[in-house]
Amino acid sequence: MAYLTLKDINKIYPNGYHAVHNFNLEIDKGEFIVFVGPSGCGKSTTLRMIAGLEDISNGEFLINGSRANELGPREREVAMVFQSYALYPQMTVFDNIAFGLTLQGVDEEVIEEKVKKTAAILGLTDYLDRLPRALSGGQRQRVAIGRAIIRKVGVFLMDEPLSNLDAKQRVTMRSEIAQIHRETGATTIYVTHDQTEAMTLADRIVVMKDGYVQQIGTPYELYHNPVNVFVAGFIGEPPMNFIRGTVKGGKISFGANTLDLTHKLGNKMRDYEGKEIVFGFRPEAIELGKRDNAYVVSADVELTEMLGDNTNVYITTQEEKAILKVDPHDTPEIDSAIVFSIPYADVYLFDGETEQVIGKVLEKTTK
Ligand code: ADP
Repeated sequence: MAYLTLKDINKIYPNGYHAVHNFNLEIDKGEFIVFVGPSGCGKSTTLRMIAGLEDISNGEFLINGSRANELGPREREVAMVFQSYALYPQMTVFDNIAFGLTLQGVDEEVIEEKVKKTAAILGLTDYLDRLPRALSGGQRQRVAIGRAIIRKVGVFLMDEPLSNLDAKQRVTMRSEIAQIHRETGATTIYVTHDQTEAMTLADRIVVMKDGYVQQIGTPYELYHNPVNVFVAGFIGEPPMNFIRGTVKGGKISFGANTLDLTHKLGNKMRDYEGKEIVFGFRPEAIELGKRDNAYVVSADVELTEMLGDNTNVYITTQEEKAILKVDPHDTPEIDSAIVFSIPYADVYLFDGETEQVIGKVLEKTTK
C-alpha cells in the first residue's frame, strides 16, 4: 500500500481561482518526490494541502490508506522547511534546532542527545553555540533543516529550500540534502522551479503546468520519454530544440532542409498530412557532419559559447534557431555554414495542435 495517496486533489481558492486540478499521485515510504514547474503552477499549493496548511477543496488525501483531509498539520506528522529559514536570531544554533522538542517538554538529556546527532548529520557540530547571524546562508539553511528533521516525522516537506542561497551554496546544499535523505530515509516531497534540482534529487518527478500534472516519472523517463512539448522543453539544459512545420508529402521544410518524417513514423505520417508538427531534438543528441540513420541538417553558426567541457553553438536556418552542444575541439567558426546529423532514434515528434508526443517515438525505453 502506498504511504501517501493523493486522489483527484483540487484546490479552488476562496476568490474562485482553481489552482490545482485533479492531482493524482501515490508515494511510497522513503521516496524522494520533487514537484517541479514554472512559478505559479500550483506546486506550493499542493505541498501546503499535504502539510495541512491549506484546505483540500475536492479529492482525498490518505496517509497509510486512511483519509487524512481533516487532520491538522501536527496530526499528519509532517515537518516543513520553507524558503525563508526564519531562525530565531537571539537563539543559538543548538536552541534553534532544539526548539520544537523544548516546546513539547522533552527531557533535557534526550534533547541534547538528539541535537548532537542531528548536528552531526548536518555538519553543524562546531557551530552549536553560535547565533544565526554568525553563519553563512548555507549553514542557516542546514539549521532550518535540522529543526525539521530532529522531530521524528513521517514526511519531510521542503518548499524551494535553496532559493535564498547563491549558486555555489545551492550545489553544495543540494548534495547535502541528497545525503540527508539517504541517512534518514525520510519520505520527502520537495518543491522547486529548477529542473536541475529536480533531476539530481528526485526518485520521481512530478512536472506541473497551470495547475495540471503534465507527467510523473523518474528523471530518466522524463528526459527520454517526455509526453508533450512542455515536459520535453522543461527537462534538460539547454532545453530541447523545437522546429515547427506543416507536413507536406510526409516532409517538413525549413531553410535549405527538407526532412522526410516517414523515417520516424512510417505510414502514421499520413494522418498528419497538411497539419502542423513539432520536430524536437536535444542539443546534446547531434553529431557534426553527415551520418547514416540520421536527419542531416545544414545551418549557419550565429554564436558560440565556450563552456570548458563543451561548447554551445547557436545556429540558424533563416527560419529556425537551435542550440547544439559540441565537443570544444570541434567548435565551428562564427558565421560559418555547418552540417550536422540527428539520429532518427533521438528525434521527437509532437502534434502541433495538442503538443502531445506522436506514436512511440523512441526506440530506447527504460534503463
Ligand atoms: P507555485 O508554488 O507553483 O509557484 P502556487 O501554488 O504558490 O504556485 O500558486 C498557484 C496559483 O495559485 C498561482 O496562480 C497563485 O497566484 C494562486 N494562489 C496562491 N495562493 C492563493 C490564494 N491564497 N488565493 C488565490 N490564489 C492563490
